[in-house]
Amino acid sequence: MKAYTGKVLWVDLTHGTWHEETIPDAIYQQYLAGIGLGAWLLYREIPAGADPLGPENILGFLPGLLTGSGSLFTGRWMAVAKSPLTGTWGDANCGGTLAFAIKQCGYDGILFKGISNRPVYLYLDAHGPQIRDAAHLWGKDAIETEDLLHQAHHGKKQPAIATIGPAGESLSLISGIVNDRGRLAARSGLGAVMGSKRLKAVVLAGSQRVSAHDPMKTKLLALKCSRDVILPARLLHSRALTFLGRAIGKLPVGFTQSGALLARVLAKWGTVGTFQVSVGMGDTPFKNWTGSERDMPQVYDAIDPDRVRQSEKRKYHCRGCPLGCGGIVEMKGEITESHKPEYETIASLTTMLLNDDLDLVYEVNEMLNRGGMDTISAGGAVAFAMECYEQGWITQEDTGGLELTWGNAPAIRELVRQMIARQGFGAWLSDGVKKAAASLRPEASQAAIHAGGQEIAYHDPRLDPGMGLHASVDPTPGRHTSGAYLYYEMYRLWTRIPDLPPALQVYPRTRRYTPGNGNSQASVAVSNFTQFYNSAGACYFGMLIGVDRVPIFEWANAATGWNLTPAEYLRTGQRIQTLRQMFNIRQGIDPRALKISPRLTGSPPLEHGPNRGFHFDLDEFMHAYWKAIGWDEATGIPTQETLQALDILDIVQPTEGVPV
Ligand code: SF4
Repeated sequence: MKAYTGKVLWVDLTHGTWHEETIPDAIYQQYLAGIGLGAWLLYREIPAGADPLGPENILGFLPGLLTGSGSLFTGRWMAVAKSPLTGTWGDANCGGTLAFAIKQCGYDGILFKGISNRPVYLYLDAHGPQIRDAAHLWGKDAIETEDLLHQAHHGKKQPAIATIGPAGESLSLISGIVNDRGRLAARSGLGAVMGSKRLKAVVLAGSQRVSAHDPMKTKLLALKCSRDVILPARLLHSRALTFLGRAIGKLPVGFTQSGALLARVLAKWGTVGTFQVSVGMGDTPFKNWTGSERDMPQVYDAIDPDRVRQSEKRKYHCRGCPLGCGGIVEMKGEITESHKPEYETIASLTTMLLNDDLDLVYEVNEMLNRGGMDTISAGGAVAFAMECYEQGWITQEDTGGLELTWGNAPAIRELVRQMIARQGFGAWLSDGVKKAAASLRPEASQAAIHAGGQEIAYHDPRLDPGMGLHASVDPTPGRHTSGAYLYYEMYRLWTRIPDLPPALQVYPRTRRYTPGNGNSQASVAVSNFTQFYNSAGACYFGMLIGVDRVPIFEWANAATGWNLTPAEYLRTGQRIQTLRQMFNIRQGIDPRALKISPRLTGSPPLEHGPNRGFHFDLDEFMHAYWKAIGWDEATGIPTQETLQALDILDIVQPTEGVPV
């Protein structure tokens, strides 16, 4: 037995039909599963110029290659489609129970094409797929929908459910897909793709066995890994993290951060535990990326991870994760509990807006989870509106009376409510900042912070230019998970792959502000590794602990029976990255046009805070990256030699590599 099932399910919503497709073993070896298999299928099926909200677009739900194999950190699933937000390859991933449930239904992917003429949901169990009426669910929020579907399908087995909320139904371009009562595959606007297909939900109740080629080896590796990553955190206090972050922010040197420390922080607080360090270092943006801690001096007291921890009722883990960074927190008001907000959500709704009301963060986070809207993009959109209001580009007359001053909690709550419902002034922001800015005077575009149309997550490229580079060159622009120099330092790939440059433990901060010093080589290694572990279904927090502690390559071999080296797995990652880039080229995307907003490169430079005065030449970084990965240095289009060397000319026509 292998960890992959050997087939995917295709569902045609226009005709209400379905069929299975057998995937040859060779394709798994070339593209793995998850995002890699998704890239192979979508490149083959989606024609050039397809409308992302039309019948030709395909929405795929794909578990990782290692999901269910007994390896740790590998319970993520990937949503893939052409993104309506950016027009590029779109993906988003999430943890919870869904990835394993897809495998238990016997598939490595469920892919939807066409458009239903009425709201429907897919129900899938041992008897096969059924397309069922969802008229009674349309208009319900994501948690209400999940509860109703659980009531309707309460059998011996509790099904796993993915759904959209009202934001996806109204085709908001910043909507996501929700599973496990409020967790989102949030990015790329894929909730709108699901909404455009009138597919309200996917309900999975399969019970097939999932295992690995060598379950004993997988288990032994998992036992050792658990011992290596579960470390005591009793003596770790948020005040100490505040001190550490502030000290780093003041020094002219950078440090390679420790995966062991991150594992402790995640296990104790979840991702919010990184907030104090990030603020101190200058990683967390303030006031729509124009400010610093000076604009919100109360930030450490108001947004204290220990306060979040005190409100935590219970922790939860994704399947097969020893850390359990998730949690359910107690809330004031009618709704009494919600998911613990992630770091990104906290930054999005506090420092970006100069809001110090943590209770408001809980409340708005819950609204967004229920509505099915991306918290990163939503906070970015509110911050954009606040800057426009401050600058006088919009007035209270435009906002319908909302006073969009920085930190105005009631205005934030009401604006987000309107955005989710696509009502009133909020409707202007329901499709993200790029589209909103297009209706204002040209100078407003400088406040619309995005890459290729997608709002940027809250890690400052002026601190880590690698973050800005990856957000600009990845085929899904604007994703913070696609890479950074920090990630290279933490993944520790050089410990497993010969010829990669080791990171220095301490280095002058300026070392990061050039594509030289081995930085381009490191960036390409990060891209390729990211494609590999996304295809494996791995969580990037787990990977940040470092490949010398987390045996992800060995698990891949134990799961499949292959005998590939870490370098060969990275080569596979390069193939997937290149095919995703070719997807964009076929769709008429110019890679040069996916750059992060100039403000994030330090143009103009910040005047205060740890990143004051820093700037970098993004074009220089992009050209160097393209050259290092084997794409045309000037245009970002993969070269014929690279396509040939990666053995993907069989599906990519040579004529498609011409400059756009
Ligand atoms: S670290 Fe958190 S998000 Fe990642 S697998 Fe574990 S519980 Fe899930």
